[in-house]
Amino acid sequence: MTSDRDSTSRVIVVGGGYAGVMAANRLTQRDDVTVTLINPRAQFVERIRLHQLAAQTHPAVHDMREVLAPDVELVVGSVELIDTASRTVAVGGDILDYDYLVYAVGSHSSDVDVPGVREHAYPVSTLEQAQRLRAALADTPESAPVTVVGAGPTGIETAAELADAGRAVTLVCGRVLGPYLHPRIRRGIAKRLRRMGVTIVDGAGATVTAVAADSVDLADGNQITSALTIWAAGFAVPELALRSGLSTDEAGRLLTDETLTSVDDDHIVAAGDCAAPSALPYRMSCQAANQLGPQAADTVLRRIDGEEPGPALVGFAGQCISLGRRYGTFQFSRRNDVAVPLHVGGRVGARLKELVCKSTVDGLRHEADKPGRRLVRMRDPHRDAALAERNSASTLQAAR
Ligand SMILES: Cc1cc2nc3c(=O)[nH]c(=O)nc-3n(C[C@H](O)[C@H](O)[C@H](O)COP(=O)(O)OP(=O)(O)OC[C@H]3O[C@@H](n4cnc5c(N)ncnc54)[C@H](O)[C@@H]3O)c2cc1C
Repeated sequence: MTSDRDSTSRVIVVGGGYAGVMAANRLTQRDDVTVTLINPRAQFVERIRLHQLAAQTHPAVHDMREVLAPDVELVVGSVELIDTASRTVAVGGDILDYDYLVYAVGSHSSDVDVPGVREHAYPVSTLEQAQRLRAALADTPESAPVTVVGAGPTGIETAAELADAGRAVTLVCGRVLGPYLHPRIRRGIAKRLRRMGVTIVDGAGATVTAVAADSVDLADGNQITSALTIWAAGFAVPELALRSGLSTDEAGRLLTDETLTSVDDDHIVAAGDCAAPSALPYRMSCQAANQLGPQAADTVLRRIDGEEPGPALVGFAGQCISLGRRYGTFQFSRRNDVAVPLHVGGRVGARLKELVCKSTVDGLRHEADKPGRRLVRMRDPHRDAALAERNSASTLQAAR
């Protein structure tokens, strides 16, 4: 709704992570738009540093106002429901109106059915989980065995960070270490982890079947003694879209078209881990969130002007993985996120990773200071081809 009082449009951004803060800041470029960001806490969480928070090498949080444009109103709370008919959200007993809503609620660790995980394992995916893990580590003797389950970037980084801090770490990969990585670079990372003292358990039987207070059971029948088990086996998304009756993909990500607009309602636009453009979601990553956030804002501004928004264009550069404080690896990829046999490793890799983390937060501040200046559109021809292929396949099916 465009308010009758004046021609101001009210935009609510739900979720103050990388995508949400980017979107909120970018929206402030216009005087005829008011922006409200709703987030459960008055802090910005650098999720890509949560393993560092657990290992006490970085606080991973900033006062939200440090990264938010002054014109953005911050409401601390969790949105319980989006009512698309009345264009309102329910938050902590209040009902807030919007004209446009940016859905940017991110992700959290996946809730698995493996027995004992909920009771005994420590995820590292949200601020509260990482704080809880830090406290548990403080109560665990330094020589006690620690197990990290899951060897995607979160698991690898957590295992390395703790090994760097002198912990005895076992990394249970669930088949393969770093599935995303190019085989050559995977071997290099495994070598580095072993040198740091990490025991790597991979292969067909390396899937966890149960977690107890002091052990982890594997599919091959082996048991690992574990004083503390960290769960890093994937992300899931909040159920807010589903609960609000919006169309989602199977994982619960909001289904949008290529302009990031909900397939149900052109007053709702999504960005970050919780978005599924054309049901072909990008890899859940800060990298994609940083590109999708500003483009979600651009889509809203175009819609306010009654214009047709353009497609969101996201291009990847690779994956940057820290291996403790002294080493790191930048695995390069094609724009379509397929890893190539090219990397920067060692101490240069560590410096590059640190630069990436810093520049991510600097990027938010820059968008707050100079909203709308950031160039975000990177064409990925592979995505166009994948969409065209899928569309022609469904046309063929429809014709049969
Ligand atoms: C340890 C770790 C290391 C990582 N390393 C990397 C890396 O090196 N590179 C990389 O690209 N990615 C990395 N990631 C993944 C990356 O952090 C996420 O993909 C990224 O944070 C997604 O950004 P987002 O803005 O979509 O969501 P988030 O950063 O998750 O932010 C979402 C926000 O929405 C809030 N929210 C949720 N529900 C509601 C609600 N109902 N109402 C209001 N607010 C709500 C959340 O509390 C949160 O503040 C890492 C993740 C972890 C945990």
